[in-house]
Amino acid sequence: MLKQHREMINTRRLYKFEGDFFASNRRLNKQLSINTIKRIGQMVWDNESPYKKKTIPEIRFGPGIYHTQSRGKNLYYSWCDGFIIELAPYQHDLLTLLHEMVHALGYGYHDARFVEKYIYLLVKYGNLNKKDLIMGMKAYEVALPRKYKRLYASYESIGR
Ligand SMILES: [Zn+2]
Repeated sequence: MLKQHREMINTRRLYKFEGDFFASNRRLNKQLSINTIKRIGQMVWDNESPYKKKTIPEIRFGPGIYHTQSRGKNLYYSWCDGFIIELAPYQHDLLTLLHEMVHALGYGYHDARFVEKYIYLLVKYGNLNKKDLIMGMKAYEVALPRKYKRLYASYESIGR
């Protein structure tokens, strides 16, 4: 399968998972001020950045990138290009910040490496349960590292 096509599928599955799994999580979806977002972003960067000299990308609120129409409303996505993290309207939250921070830390695609780091940040800074996350991602066929695919495999078979 073409890498581009694989990335498209991975992205669609991850976004679907995020939209459903975190929908009722008020804490992760709570809209924060730019100052709070920047403070948390800096903390994550200081703790996690593998780059010795690179400074954290500029974090800003902006229009985001147009994605699609859904139920008559235009949807916009936040983005990170390695230099800027732009959070789109209604995405001024910890969940979106942590997702974009994974990109900032050097993971450009929504592949298994991205997801591994994303899970790590969600557990560490979002107080989420690792097993719940992995089980949820499995159900949405999100790209997962092999070690996570094996993890909880027995639990899954018992559950069925
Ligand atoms: Zn992304």
